[in-house]
Amino acid sequence: MIIQKDILSFTSTDLSTQLASLGWEKYRIKQLNNWLWKHCVRDFNQMTNLSVKQREELTNLFTINSLREDKKQISNDGTIKFRYALHDDKKIESVLIPVADDKRFTVCVSSQVGCSLTCSFCATGKMGLARQLTAGEIFDQVVQVNKTCQDTYGKGLSNIVYMGMGEPLLNYKNVCNSISQLISSEGLNFSHNRITVSTAGIAKMIIKLAEDGYKVNLALSLHAADDAKRNEMMPINESNNLHSLMQALKYYQRITGNRISFEYIAFEHFNDTEKDAKNLVKLCSHFPVIVNIIEYNTVQGVDYMKSSEDRLNNFAKYLLKHGVMTTVRKSRGKDIDAACGQLANKG
Ligand code: SF4
Repeated sequence: MIIQKDILSFTSTDLSTQLASLGWEKYRIKQLNNWLWKHCVRDFNQMTNLSVKQREELTNLFTINSLREDKKQISNDGTIKFRYALHDDKKIESVLIPVADDKRFTVCVSSQVGCSLTCSFCATGKMGLARQLTAGEIFDQVVQVNKTCQDTYGKGLSNIVYMGMGEPLLNYKNVCNSISQLISSEGLNFSHNRITVSTAGIAKMIIKLAEDGYKVNLALSLHAADDAKRNEMMPINESNNLHSLMQALKYYQRITGNRISFEYIAFEHFNDTEKDAKNLVKLCSHFPVIVNIIEYNTVQGVDYMKSSEDRLNNFAKYLLKHGVMTTVRKSRGKDIDAACGQLANKG
């Protein structure tokens, strides 16, 4: 019995090699890759410039595991959360965030079903890891959300952030393959400058990402500027402490020339004191960095409190006064559990 593999789990290069070995001509392989990655067609029978025999051959050899929209929720602020069912009926979430009076549109994509990292403030971390997403499943979130974006707002996506469910650097190969298809002229032709990978901090993978030349923006989910507090919130810090992360990020910045950002969720009386701000200023002296301070969204079963507006603003002012580029981000989509740390396939 032939076990059919998902055609979207192959890179276009690997697929080309396999089809060439079956006697496919180059221009036919190009046509197929165009259908898959440029026109995003998910049914072999709709690939009309391939011969009937070739379409049959594809159907015998491969499946196309596409996503099925299972639920869509629209927030009061225009943010849209999508829940997608995968071919094995596992569920993931993606979020479309309109920014700056609907001039820009960011999609936040998931890279894993759940997450193994158990950050104490995060709803996804409480799910555990069910499985890795394939490159095709990551790519297809962008395709589907982009379509809704065009239908709803008359414009396509401007930015992609790997900030949904999961730790992207622990699904490294598939995440990188999805980036390759997104930026390829034979894919969506997206600029790498408009893609951000957000990590909880895995030093050796940050170095690898720099060396592999993807040149995407990198965001570190920092949330605490000293190891003791960070260990408490993010157990991954015990094996990837701040010193090792700063070394890795410095290297990433030097090799790629790309912007690094720190994501910092403010928790009342935990990481929003002047001492915390002082420690953060010190961390920011290693390389050019922008700090995004994020309002906390309540997650059931989590004890942290959201910083008051005054404390949050004072914290930001301290950073700005000490020369750190800082933004304060109001939470988006919190009424539909679509905000940072809230993705958990609820409802
Ligand atoms: S914050 Fe990110 S890395 Fe941490 S548990 Fe949640 S999804 Fe995983």
